[in-house]
Amino acid sequence: MNPFDISGRLALVTGSSRGLGHALARGLAEQGARVILHGRSPQTVEQAARALRDESGAEVSAVTFDVTDAPAVKEALAALIETHGVPDILVNNAGLQRRAPFTEFDPADWDAVLATNLSSAFYVSRAISPAMSERGAGKIVNIGSVQSMLARQTIAPYSASKGGVAMLTKGMAADLARFNVQVNCISPGYFRTDMNTALWQDDDFNAWVENRTPAQRWGEVEELIGTLLYLCSGASDFVSGQNIFVDGGMTSVV
Ligand code: NDP
Repeated sequence: MNPFDISGRLALVTGSSRGLGHALARGLAEQGARVILHGRSPQTVEQAARALRDESGAEVSAVTFDVTDAPAVKEALAALIETHGVPDILVNNAGLQRRAPFTEFDPADWDAVLATNLSSAFYVSRAISPAMSERGAGKIVNIGSVQSMLARQTIAPYSASKGGVAMLTKGMAADLARFNVQVNCISPGYFRTDMNTALWQDDDFNAWVENRTPAQRWGEVEELIGTLLYLCSGASDFVSGQNIFVDGGMTSVV
């Protein structure tokens, strides 16, 4: 028996229209999971689902809702469960980055960052985990960040939101473990996506990443898949509330 086998499992990955979420969804599809892609634009998500279906041969569906809108999340996920059944795997990945010095940070931007990165994981998990608990099995993986542990200038709200994700993970794990639902967190280091285009196009920032990361480079999105597969499979059935940093060693050194 392969303890990492996830074939046939139903997986919802939020924010998988592009970026890390799309790479994570692709990784699950390539391991035989049935995947539901998610984002805000029906056209973009359906197009991404078609492409992934064609490339991987996997069963890939699409769903759209705004993760910051609690009633919309509840309605969309009730419909999703009706259509597809209860997901075996939920990856709370949708996220947002806004930059400004803390003293100049607009309160509306604070609300958007906290709602998209932290409240979303609560809304989506709250809508799905009761059915997982009732079934007596489920895997929830929250996407955190090295910024939950390491601060940088201009992203205090982002760091606060990811610190919240790390502790939400532990709290959810404590409540759901008795129902055989495991909740863990993957905290990536630096990966080139739309979210940080301005950073990876900046030579000084690239030099900073190479100096600050023991691996001396940015991560490749595919390097997140193994950890995700572990946390979504039976291999981690007695692992809950953990936060795994996939960061080339960045958070291990000063
Ligand atoms: P991207 O900006 O490339 O993608 C963000 C995704 O989130 C998109 O699919 C987007 O969908 C979705 N999304 C954003 N806001 C909402 C919303 N209100 N409702 C629904 N979906 C939404 O970001 P990344 O791929 O870089 O980041 C993904 C996750 O990884 C985030 O949680 C981020 O904090 C985390 N992370 C990223 C790192 C990196 O180096 N890139 C490092 C550490 C953590 P749409 O197409 O509708 O906009």
